[in-house]
Amino acid sequence: MIEAAGVSFDYGDTTVLDQVGLEATAGQVVGLIGPNGSGKTTLLRTLYASLRPRTGCVAVDGDDVGALRTREVARRLAVVVQEGATDLPVTVAEMVLLGRSPHLGNFQRPGEADHRRAAAALRQVGARHLAGRVFAGLSGGEKQRVLIARAITQGADHLLLDEPTNHLDVRYQHEILQLVRQLEVCTVVVLHDLNLAARYCDRLVLLQDGRVVAAGTPDEVLRPEVLEPVYGIGVRRVPDHGRVQLLFSPLDDRNQP
Ligand code: ADP
Repeated sequence: MIEAAGVSFDYGDTTVLDQVGLEATAGQVVGLIGPNGSGKTTLLRTLYASLRPRTGCVAVDGDDVGALRTREVARRLAVVVQEGATDLPVTVAEMVLLGRSPHLGNFQRPGEADHRRAAAALRQVGARHLAGRVFAGLSGGEKQRVLIARAITQGADHLLLDEPTNHLDVRYQHEILQLVRQLEVCTVVVLHDLNLAARYCDRLVLLQDGRVVAAGTPDEVLRPEVLEPVYGIGVRRVPDHGRVQLLFSPLDDRNQP
């Protein structure tokens, strides 16, 4: 379980997160949504202790992440962000094996069991055939799969992802999120696409200017009266076999004859 309470964060004089709270329980997928610059990535980074909040705290299974050692954070939280993924000429197999690092002692090399785990994770994400390829040479969708395989190999009960569907075509967007759902670990995912958020998240937290303006199920949050003032765009909900589906149009369109 991940709990953030009263989290505030500043870049210099600018407050980017203002008393933000969030809760993700075991097995849940919680989506962080909101316009560009609303603080989603910053909040995610406070969850894995890459940024330390000015006020408030973040707890993982009841323990303050700020007080945990880096290795312990990595045993509990796996992070999938494309930035910072290496340009070094490492192979996919080596990249995935890095997921075992938090479990190895200093200078300890991965053993047979670690290799087996990494291979199983690559199979699970349908990327076994990529094992010998250089990671930096993969397509965006292939890289996402491999980074998720590394997260699986890490064996953490919590998964944090920052826009895992960025730059992917429609089919890969769904494949990646289906994969994430199947993992059944406590997940917090930053998503831009509100229809993907509706389909794959149990709960949503909507940020605007560093504050939570709505939180709840997709049905509760993805309503025109909630979204229109935040995004400044016309929103219509259309029936789709009991799911939430949204259509968007510029607000000006309503004044057109
Ligand atoms: P989002 O993920 O919702 O697009 P971010 O968390 O990336 O939002 O950014 C929130 C705000 O913080 C934005 O106004 C952004 O310009 C600012 N910001 C992000 N990173 C930095 C940084 N390293 N230094 C200064 N300001 C930053």
